[in-house]
Amino acid sequence: AKYVYFFGDGKAEGSAEMKNLLGGKGANLAEMTAIGLPVPAGFTISTEVCTEFYKNDRQYPAGLTHEVASNLKMVEDLMGKKFGDPANPLLVSVRSGARASMPGMMDTILNLGLNDTTVQGIIAQSGDERFAYDAYRRFVQMYSDVVMGMDKEALEHILEHKKEDRGVRLDTDLTAEDWKELVGKFKTKIRETLGQEFPEDPQEQLWGAIGAVFGSWMNARAITYRRLNNIPADWGTAVNVQSMVFGNMGNDCATGVAFTRDPSTGENYFYGEYLVNAQGEDVVAGIRTPQPINKAKKKDGDLPAMEDVMPDCYQQLVNIRSILEKHYKDMQDIEFTIEKGKLYMLQTRNGKRTAKAAIKIAVDMEKEGLIDERTAVLRVAPSQLDQLLHPSLDPKAEKKVIAKGLPASPGAASGEVIFNADEAEAAAKLGLKVILVRVETSPEDIHGMHAAQGILTARGGMTSHAAVVARGMGKCCVAGCGDIKVNYAANQFTDRNGNIVKKGDIITLDGSTGEVILGMVPTVSPELTGDFGTLMEWVDRFRRLKVRANADNPHDSKVAREFGAQGIGLCRTEHMFFEADRIAAVREMILSEDLEGRQRALAKILPMQKGDFVGIFREMKGLPVTIRLLDPPLHEFLPQEEKDIESLAKTMGVSIQALKSKVEFLHEFNPMLGHRGCRLGLTFPEIYDMQVQAIMEAACELVKDEGFTIVPEIMIPLVAVVDELKRLRENAIRICEDVIARYGVKVDYLIGTMIELPRAALTADEIATEAEFFSFGTNDLTQTTFGLSRDDAGKFLPFYVETGLLEEDPFVSLDQNGVGLLVKMGCEKGRSTRPEIKLGICGEHGGDPASVIFCHKVGLDYVSCSPFRVPIARLAAAHAVL
Ligand code: PEP
Ligand code: MG
Repeated sequence: AKYVYFFGDGKAEGSAEMKNLLGGKGANLAEMTAIGLPVPAGFTISTEVCTEFYKNDRQYPAGLTHEVASNLKMVEDLMGKKFGDPANPLLVSVRSGARASMPGMMDTILNLGLNDTTVQGIIAQSGDERFAYDAYRRFVQMYSDVVMGMDKEALEHILEHKKEDRGVRLDTDLTAEDWKELVGKFKTKIRETLGQEFPEDPQEQLWGAIGAVFGSWMNARAITYRRLNNIPADWGTAVNVQSMVFGNMGNDCATGVAFTRDPSTGENYFYGEYLVNAQGEDVVAGIRTPQPINKAKKKDGDLPAMEDVMPDCYQQLVNIRSILEKHYKDMQDIEFTIEKGKLYMLQTRNGKRTAKAAIKIAVDMEKEGLIDERTAVLRVAPSQLDQLLHPSLDPKAEKKVIAKGLPASPGAASGEVIFNADEAEAAAKLGLKVILVRVETSPEDIHGMHAAQGILTARGGMTSHAAVVARGMGKCCVAGCGDIKVNYAANQFTDRNGNIVKKGDIITLDGSTGEVILGMVPTVSPELTGDFGTLMEWVDRFRRLKVRANADNPHDSKVAREFGAQGIGLCRTEHMFFEADRIAAVREMILSEDLEGRQRALAKILPMQKGDFVGIFREMKGLPVTIRLLDPPLHEFLPQEEKDIESLAKTMGVSIQALKSKVEFLHEFNPMLGHRGCRLGLTFPEIYDMQVQAIMEAACELVKDEGFTIVPEIMIPLVAVVDELKRLRENAIRICEDVIARYGVKVDYLIGTMIELPRAALTADEIATEAEFFSFGTNDLTQTTFGLSRDDAGKFLPFYVETGLLEEDPFVSLDQNGVGLLVKMGCEKGRSTRPEIKLGICGEHGGDPASVIFCHKVGLDYVSCSPFRVPIARLAAAHAVL
């Protein structure tokens, strides 16, 4: 087997296609080398080595040592330097690189190969003793931390002490002599603490670093990141060993990161930041605030742009930008270093971006001819749209801006200020909304960032850890907010006016403007035209599956249609019963002892229900509307409060005591499996009769008076045996025909059922004899298939997901192997009886991208989901085809 892949001098053994084997970084270093970009020579140890390493009890496969040695020799030959050579030493970086990018999650070691002898060679090469010892001490700090497990703070402490001794404040004020002395002191401290010498032998250093990178695949933060991002543990990481180039050898040196387009807005603008005389990690870590690359959008107060400071290198970088975009046909996220005026590329990858940017970039690139419509549609992840479809701050709302930082990741969020990731996580578990406020974030904060509504940092640029990770999570983030001064010890920060904001105070972040606002701010709905509209037009051209919405009132119906819903897949009539002015009549109906009493109450409800349906039909302008007859357990409507019982008893003319005992009588031990759904319709037929009458009268009136075309779809819930449906359908048809005859107009209607009990799915062929459509109620179907209560699962289901017993919450993403089989069987059996039967789904799963793709595959006609998720479902339905 081959384990190591070389790249250098225009030739590479790997390519961008080999991400699984070489990791993202390694594959792209190979690709960039091969297309002639300036990349320092190096080699990649494949992910297979990582997998074998863990399979074989942390032993490397045979032959690896030899391959590493011969590749290192090739790097030496190319660079004209030798690893460990006292006169002309080669130094290397050792970095991880998994298939999927995991920013900052795993370990990196720079300047490897330095020891007391080779440092002399670096002095000779660079002519800069201070630089050489600074590089050496950085290496000792990094290596002892990452490879040897030395406490970072202990060495930082020695460094601080030294500065005090010398009476200086900044690292840059220390001299060569100081650094040299510190190297010695660091090594002594390491020996004293760990009982182990710092390795002098470069070969030992190299293998120590390789082992640490493979080891970091299993560190706690990498494991958390993989869990949050669904990255399997057996993918493994590759290790990249590459000759060092230095961005910190003087003022003709620099290091930077850039995006070929703006990752926040998607604008076709070369967006980047760099630091003069710095090492790469300084930019990503957000310790110094970087300078812009190009000057077009430079703001007052920004440091000079690279375009002005290093015009030649800038021009080269601009060319590389265009080469990379033409080559990869996607927005790239790059890292580069300039050593003594010469530009080197250290990384390229497809850049993470906000939903807004993803759409703009996809649509722009199609217009530029870089990609076709199909690719453009596939470039936007359905789940990502969520970010865009959610409200942003109401521009008309009053707001008290207390600070302003960088608009690092858009959206808006309000919550209580919390200063530490563990506390943020704990607070979120209690259901609190929190904003995580940090000086800067590091990979150790990832769980707190995940738990928070939004993230605010005082330091760091648009490419700082906080910014990159928040964008990836689709979370609102304001970064580099120099206006605030964070005091962890006091659990507070001061704003730009010096006012104090304490832990627990509410703030609002606007991730699109960078504003930090005191208190809560109301939000408004998103804009759905422009590039979004263009992309969705393409989406609709590709998809087969129709998308409807679950909506119960005219307002939601309107929102649904604006989001592109092609009808209503579920109108839950019971939601209308809760309105203040009707709940009394509903209670009266339920609690009446006789038919007459119920009919009296129903007569009060009828005109209100009819009004609801008129409103919804009107909004839907002839699109199909599925109305479900009353479903939930009666007890949900029962009065609990003493005063409600009293006033109801008065209206109904019964004693308070009689009413109370009726309420008790209706109590159920297991209401979800009790007197609900069609069971109600069968025992109290007059309820469904009233609802059907309201639906048909509404339809007839609109057809007659306003010239509408409406085909109402009347849906009967919770059917288990065909005869339930048969009887209710006969009743419904009788009422429908009656109304139609009364109005003297022609209105077609359909009568169908929900498949939400396993027995219904198993006997769907029989049920289809009485149903013109099926709608899979996968909420109840999941509940009843798993025997898992919808209302109680929240107490233990998260444990199942966290510990891997279930891959995902089955109420969120359809359990394709279990519940999905019942759906599939229901479709097949339904169609076997009635080939033209309409099939849909209206459980929560109708808006979950993976479930939508499943629905496409089993051949449903439509999915139905909440209005805000309609665009997500449309896009997922297109992805299902492409
Ligand atoms: C279902 O059970 O999936 C469904 C849509 O109905 P409800 O959620 O109202 O029970
Ligand atoms: Mg249901």
